Amino acid sequence: MALICVAILVLSGWREWSTRDAELQNAEIDMANLAQSLAQHANDTFELTDNVLIGMVHRLQIDGAGIEAIARLQTFIDLRKRGMGRIRGLFVYDETGRWLATSETVSLKDFNNSDRDYFRHHAHLDDRAMLIGRPVKSRSGGQWIITASKRFNHPDGRFAGVVLASLDAAYFAQFFEKFNIGRNGAVSLLNSDGIVLARHPDNDVYIGRDLSSTPLFKERDKHPASAPYYFKSPLDGVQRLSFYKTSENFPLMILATQAQEEVLAPWRQDAATRTMIVVALLTIIAVIGFYFVRQLQARHLMGAALEAKEADFRLLAEESSDMVTRIGMDERIRYVSPSSIRVVGWRPEQLLGTPALAGVNAEDMPRVKAMIATLKWGDEEDARIAYRSRHREKAEIWIESTMRVTKEYGTAEINGVVAISRDMTEHKDLEQKLAALATIDGLTGLANRRHFDEHLEREWARARRDGTTLSLLLIDVDHFKKYNDRYGHQAGDACLKSVAQALAAQARRPADMAARYGGEEFVLLLPDTDSAGCEQMGKKIRDCLAVLGIDHEFNLPSRKLTVSIGGATIDWQDPQAQSSSLIEAADQALYSAKDEGRDRMVMSGPVLAPRLIAPGLTPSLVS
Ligand code: GH3
Ligand code: MG
Ligand code: MG
Repeated sequence: MALICVAILVLSGWREWSTRDAELQNAEIDMANLAQSLAQHANDTFELTDNVLIGMVHRLQIDGAGIEAIARLQTFIDLRKRGMGRIRGLFVYDETGRWLATSETVSLKDFNNSDRDYFRHHAHLDDRAMLIGRPVKSRSGGQWIITASKRFNHPDGRFAGVVLASLDAAYFAQFFEKFNIGRNGAVSLLNSDGIVLARHPDNDVYIGRDLSSTPLFKERDKHPASAPYYFKSPLDGVQRLSFYKTSENFPLMILATQAQEEVLAPWRQDAATRTMIVVALLTIIAVIGFYFVRQLQARHLMGAALEAKEADFRLLAEESSDMVTRIGMDERIRYVSPSSIRVVGWRPEQLLGTPALAGVNAEDMPRVKAMIATLKWGDEEDARIAYRSRHREKAEIWIESTMRVTKEYGTAEINGVVAISRDMTEHKDLEQKLAALATIDGLTGLANRRHFDEHLEREWARARRDGTTLSLLLIDVDHFKKYNDRYGHQAGDACLKSVAQALAAQARRPADMAARYGGEEFVLLLPDTDSAGCEQMGKKIRDCLAVLGIDHEFNLPSRKLTVSIGGATIDWQDPQAQSSSLIEAADQALYSAKDEGRDRMVMSGPVLAPRLIAPGLTPSLVS
């Protein structure tokens, strides 16, 4: 920006300087033309004067300076004078400086010009050339005049006198005035010695001044006959631009000058306006540039900060053992961290652009989809879900994903989801094991009491709803205490396992459940089984144990392991009946079985309601 501003400034300065040069050059051409015309005019004027003087010298040398000849010459002068115009006066002096004839109406005897420079010049130098003298004040008229004189000789060659023509300096000054050279311009007519012969303006002030000491006249021979000339005027101190032109025939020079200041004034004004506009534009550019650069810097800093932040987050994502996934609104994967290989067995580049839900188990899919929908619609900002998913090599795995919506910078519009997922298969297995442990009896592998109670509640409710029967058998090992005492506790445990296996073998239907009810007591729940079915089941159990034929020395009379069984079946006459009444009824029946000698099954009467289980109840006996 700074470079552009400087370049524009330099270019505009250079252009202005060129314009200034062009202005000066134009002024030089004007001055050259003017000097050329004025030099021609001066040349013509002195040529005319020279011709007149040549005519007079010719007459004087042929006719002599006798009285008659002078009278004829006077007549000639009078005639000539009327048509001369630019020649002010004509004079003839004899060898003593006396006036012989003149165009002026003055008394001839009053004047003697032998003291004049030109007279002395001609008297001493036999040169026929015309002498242009310094301006002098006229003896006859008192005004400034320029003299042009020639010598004439006697027939024997001696000096006979001088003929002289005078020109008004004012004539030239008035002629120069006709040209427009500006307020501070000037035109001067000088002789070759540097004496001012005429000048416009202020002719009277400058006439006769000697400029021979100025550079223009010093070593005059080295300068060309005409050329532009720049100088500070010794006359008025103004810096001038000028052009001089020397006459080809006479020792004269025209110097046309203009004040440089005046020539350049219009340019200076225009240049100032133009420069002001350029500077104003540059200021605007600079201000805009300044803000532009500042914004760029701010953006650059922000970009660097973002980059650093992104690098941090990328490091976090890429080093994490969890799989970090960014999912677009089209549910396709936009980014996935390298740990994908560990979690799902696929490399990130294999997953990019693929549907994020591709491997999700069909059963879990509706749950996952519903959760993604709540995130997409902005109902929730984050969510956690566990689901089964395909692994590239392993069997199905459990994945737990924590998801969070991402929003568009600026508009805060939801543009996707970031999910952090981990393999939790082991965790799930453990969970399942724990769940199993919580429901199974450790010794026998049958359902435990708690699990049975829950199952009973469920089956009770179902049977009541469907109006089906539900039977229950309570089984108690006979004299088990004695068994332990006789065979040891470990043998007791093994015995309990055998009884449990025999029970489990009978619980064949899916809804049947054999459970360890406590100690050496077991329970068998038989949904959809009536009293007869229940009895039959009890018999089967006893048969089964008989087949096993476990020795029990202290269990008389069989000396084999036997069980007592109490059975009960629900009857739905009382909708208020509770599951506990079924157990109580079976317990009661078991108690009866024990009471009646063990190794038998007693069925309770129909279980109607708790109040019906009364002492008067008559259990039917099955042995
Ligand atoms: P009854 O014929 O009247 O039922 O007599 P019983 O000895 O079987 O009844 P009791 O309730 O007096 O004794 C039950 C015994 O079962 C007491 C306990 O030592 C034994 N027992 C309970 N749980 C276990 C167990 O898990 N393992 C072993 N080995 N013995 C157990
Ligand atoms: Mg018992
Ligand atoms: Mg017992």
